[in-house]
Amino acid sequence: MHRAEMQALTPSFRWDDYLRAIGQPALDDVNVTEPEFYKQVEKTLAGESLDDLKTYLRWQLAHNRARYLSSPFVNESFDFFSAYLRGVKEQQPRWKRCVSWVDRDVGEALGQVFVRKAFPPDRKASTVEMVRQIEAAMEQRIKDLPWMGAATKEQALAKLHGMANKIGYPDHWRDYTALEVRRGDFVGDVDRAVRFESRRQLDKIGKPVDKGEWGMTPPTVNAYYNALMNDMNFPAGVLLPPLYDPTIDAAPNYGNTGTTIGHELTHGFDDEGRQFDAHSTGSTRSSTTSNSTASSHWARTSPTSAAPSWPCRPGATPPPTSVSLPPRASPPTSASSSASRSGPAATSGRRASASTPSPTRTRRWSTASTGWW
Ligand SMILES: [Zn+2]
Repeated sequence: MHRAEMQALTPSFRWDDYLRAIGQPALDDVNVTEPEFYKQVEKTLAGESLDDLKTYLRWQLAHNRARYLSSPFVNESFDFFSAYLRGVKEQQPRWKRCVSWVDRDVGEALGQVFVRKAFPPDRKASTVEMVRQIEAAMEQRIKDLPWMGAATKEQALAKLHGMANKIGYPDHWRDYTALEVRRGDFVGDVDRAVRFESRRQLDKIGKPVDKGEWGMTPPTVNAYYNALMNDMNFPAGVLLPPLYDPTIDAAPNYGNTGTTIGHELTHGFDDEGRQFDAHSTGSTRSSTTSNSTASSHWARTSPTSAAPSWPCRPGATPPPTSVSLPPRASPPTSASSSASRSGPAATSGRRASASTPSPTRTRRWSTASTGWW
């Protein structure tokens, strides 16, 4: 909707001031996917006293930053939100929490070290080749389908050929030079990382989509397909033993990582992925495939339901949720609170849709077979 409509929805919130403060004074079009939420926000802003609102915001700040403060804050927060409310038995060791936050906040800096140590060029080359072979098998299967019409096959193959494969790590690393890290000021570092990420997301408004961007960091043990980019992404972390091991026979690698690749590949053609064309131009489509010879039928609709198919492993860190403050929730420490995912409404339409994670495509990790299912 237009900014004026949003202002009309929430007369008590000064959007002009807010947008100026976040460096986007000229932003006119916003995605408001839940107008009812903002009606309720307006009711609260108009109906509660200023002192109460201040108290509420102070509490939110303390609550959201508690796990980055000294032990009394950390322990109180864990005891109530994780132990009491969720039955979590014990807190993760501090080093694990710290590693996950480093991965979250400067994941592509950490990723460079990780790749240097764990993902040599020949590993990348062999996994790229595996993806290529699985795509070739997919192409053959599409061509052989007896029930799919010629026109639909043509579209499916165009989509397959247009799919980009991102393997291991980004071609261009994120530049963190604008992010100041101060030794001895951890909570300040977290705040600065939040601002850095917010700025990075906001800076995308009005610019072409960066097709080289990754929604996961290189050490992540997960993978995803993003319909808006028509790309498959396999971070280095998911291409390591015991999931993938270039020193063993190819069969277990195909049985394990190969199925992950096939899984992500088919997301491009499932109930969500099929709504997007090969180049993800922002239009959505629906194609009819069953028992028809002619039938590829296109319908242009708003891409508001667009969502990357992630996470493909429960508990994995989803991509950043637009300009959220604070940054996206930690990996599944259980010590983190879901309350840390508040975010302002104003984001650019395309990016806002692109960064909404979909919870519907979760795969589960089978401890019995070290495989995906
Ligand atoms: Zn999946």
